[in-house]
Amino acid sequence: MSLEQLADLIFPEIDKTPSFYIEKYPKRNLKEGAKVTRYAPSPTGFQHIGGVFAALVSERAATQSGGIFFLRIEDTDQKREVEGAIEDTIKTMYNFGMTFDEGMTGESASKGEYGPYRQSEREEIYKTFAKDLIKKGLAYPCFCTPEELDAMRETQMAQKLTPGCYGEYAIYRDLSTEKAIEKIKNGDNYIIRLKSPGNPETRIAFNDLIKGDTSFPESNQDIVLIKGDGLPTYHFAHAIDDALMGTTHVIRGEEWLSSLPIHVQLFDILGFTRPEYAHIPTIMKQDGTSKRKLSKRKDPESAVSYYKEEGYPKASVVEYLLNIINSTFEEWRAENPMADYHEFPVALDKMSKSGALFDIIKLNDVSKDVICKMKAEEVYSLYIDWAKEYDEEMYQLITVKEDFSKQIFNIDKEGPKPRKDFAKWNEVREKICYFFGPLFEKERLEDIELPKNMELSEAKRIIEAYAKAYRYDTDQETWFEDLKAVAIDLGYTADRKAFKKTPEAFKGMVSDVAGAVRAALTHRANTPDLYTIMHILGEEDVRNRLEDFTQ
Ligand code: GLU
Repeated sequence: MSLEQLADLIFPEIDKTPSFYIEKYPKRNLKEGAKVTRYAPSPTGFQHIGGVFAALVSERAATQSGGIFFLRIEDTDQKREVEGAIEDTIKTMYNFGMTFDEGMTGESASKGEYGPYRQSEREEIYKTFAKDLIKKGLAYPCFCTPEELDAMRETQMAQKLTPGCYGEYAIYRDLSTEKAIEKIKNGDNYIIRLKSPGNPETRIAFNDLIKGDTSFPESNQDIVLIKGDGLPTYHFAHAIDDALMGTTHVIRGEEWLSSLPIHVQLFDILGFTRPEYAHIPTIMKQDGTSKRKLSKRKDPESAVSYYKEEGYPKASVVEYLLNIINSTFEEWRAENPMADYHEFPVALDKMSKSGALFDIIKLNDVSKDVICKMKAEEVYSLYIDWAKEYDEEMYQLITVKEDFSKQIFNIDKEGPKPRKDFAKWNEVREKICYFFGPLFEKERLEDIELPKNMELSEAKRIIEAYAKAYRYDTDQETWFEDLKAVAIDLGYTADRKAFKKTPEAFKGMVSDVAGAVRAALTHRANTPDLYTIMHILGEEDVRNRLEDFTQ
């Protein structure tokens, strides 16, 4: 009985050979140095920020080199699949400024010549390669029962041995072909394992584009290639896919680094050229004095949806991730304040080798910078997009008074040092609500922030006098002169030195009087420039608010 017969018995439906596929997907015609990278998620429906991070590194590497970035769906673990996850992945990446040149474009649609791009549709391809390995004696059916596997694991644990199927534990590795055929005909369950030629005494040197030079012992594990359900394992599938799809750079999470000996071996056995590998650090979080992985369960910021709900502009998140990818981003940004982030050259070899620390405070700083550089129009439009979904009341108020709202967003924006008010859209309401009558009127008397050491009765006295002097159509200087005149009239001074020398001679400084006006018009002690606020509010509103305050 021959291996050929065994292979035919296992895969009777497979009539092709690997060369069919190798010829079907020719070498890509790309310019020298162009990288072909991919984002290869499992469609579990949960978009982890780490996924955006990995995709961004891959996308930048491809796009910056004039290469190809494609989307492959790794759905060989069908238990974990969630409906709509593929569309959600595409939309998420698109929202973060990434588009795929090739790959899945929907639940069942795709574009590109190297497909199918969904692993569950590539079953025949994997089986073709597995069949070939069986014929060559490089793979075999393993009939281990779950009980046998458990017993093996226990023995290995008890003896503190490397777990897995290798050496004397690979009990079906040397089963005769006759016996294997007999068992299969008999209806025994089996999976397909690699007959690993590796010798752990031999070390392999390897250069990871992020981690640098490493070396590891050859793998002697008879890993599973095809599972009981006929689908391949990640190890086997990724090697075949990345080879046939022409991936030049496998950029993925460092949790795969330990599987590299297996992957390198698979590429060699399958006769493929090894791609370059770059293992990106896991996103970590400071928790007390130690660092840990961002957890889906414990950390809301691990979910991409969190950023949308909180109202971080996409550009802020991307810029923040670029900061984590290359620490040189910050310097580049300082030198190129208005440049599009796509112009920043991402360098894999400059990436931190250890964990990437995720820090919300830093994200907020980055986001404030991003928002403060946006034009008022853009702030308005992004804000209403967010508010429409998350703050219906603000959405109504803002859109009814579009010009008015844009003037608010434009406060102190055009100078050389634009105001840094918000890091995310859910902070906007608190900062600007006083501009809107319906919200302002709801505020309670006891929440009004008066200038330090000033009684409400004194503030009212100031406002009564100021209401009489107030003129709408003045320039800022005249406006201040008017305010000063009222202040002096009421026993305040504009002369800081004099006030310092004999504070008892005055009721306070002009700034206190301005503070009272600010309190009457905004209920707050800290706001942007008062003159600008009064201008935006308009004469009628200012007069009404001044009057209401004295009631
Ligand atoms: N499907 C794998 C994962 O979800 C992809 C790893 C890779 O990029 O090769 O982690």
